[in-house]
Amino acid sequence: METILSIKNLSKNYGLVQAVKNVSLEIQKGNVYGILGPNGSGKSTTLGIVLNVVNKTSGEYSWFGGTMQTHDALKKVGAIIERPNFYPYMTAQENLELVCKIKNINYSKVTEKLTLVGLIDRKDSKFRTFSLGMKQRLAIASALLNDPEILILDEPTNGLDPQGIHQIRDIIKHIASQGTTILLASHLLDEVEKVCSHVLILRKGEILYSGSVDSVSANQGFFELQAEDNTAL
Ligand code: ADP
Ligand code: MG
Repeated sequence: METILSIKNLSKNYGLVQAVKNVSLEIQKGNVYGILGPNGSGKSTTLGIVLNVVNKTSGEYSWFGGTMQTHDALKKVGAIIERPNFYPYMTAQENLELVCKIKNINYSKVTEKLTLVGLIDRKDSKFRTFSLGMKQRLAIASALLNDPEILILDEPTNGLDPQGIHQIRDIIKHIASQGTTILLASHLLDEVEKVCSHVLILRKGEILYSGSVDSVSANQGFFELQAEDNTAL
């Protein structure tokens, strides 16, 4: 087993708010890992910490068995943690070529990744004409340009219509089937069930469950009840 990401007793306080409390997690190569929890349960904070954009309060994490510096490790991580943001008056192709130029990636990857996300027919359309679902798919293509070891997605289907949701989930499953490790944050139990093999369930920053998705499905009623309980947030 090759460990992609290891998190040990991670905590984050924003002032008096304990956003993440003692969270531990091990992601192995090929896992499709979900972080499931209602709004405010600490999903984005956890992702922000391991992506080095949020400072942890305590605890530890290491990428790829701790064999390289975080800066170098993160070059092998593809992440979409914000709304898709590209140059509106440039085409899909031009936007991705710019990313290639900045990251020193061969331009041939643009066609490959646009095809993967079903946008090759729209490669010459300007970003501003894209629907939210298409923008999100372009963001996925962009994050995959350098063939990362792991793809991290934070609520990638938020705000999409059912067709857009379906497309994104299919793409994630396809990427996973090609061997890319996935870490997906979502507040939707059905999304995690459909896409993921493993899940960490967070509630108020704490681990409620961690393990295979199958056992969650067997106890679905319990977890839905817990996930809806936002009262103390
Ligand atoms: P999720 O992604 O599960 O919705 P977050 O990680 O965004 O949860 O938030 C966890 C908790 O931390 C929430 O109570 C949220 O209000 C708080 N929080 C998140 N970011 C900040 C911030 N930059 N400053 C202060 N509090 C924050
Ligand atoms: Mg979030």
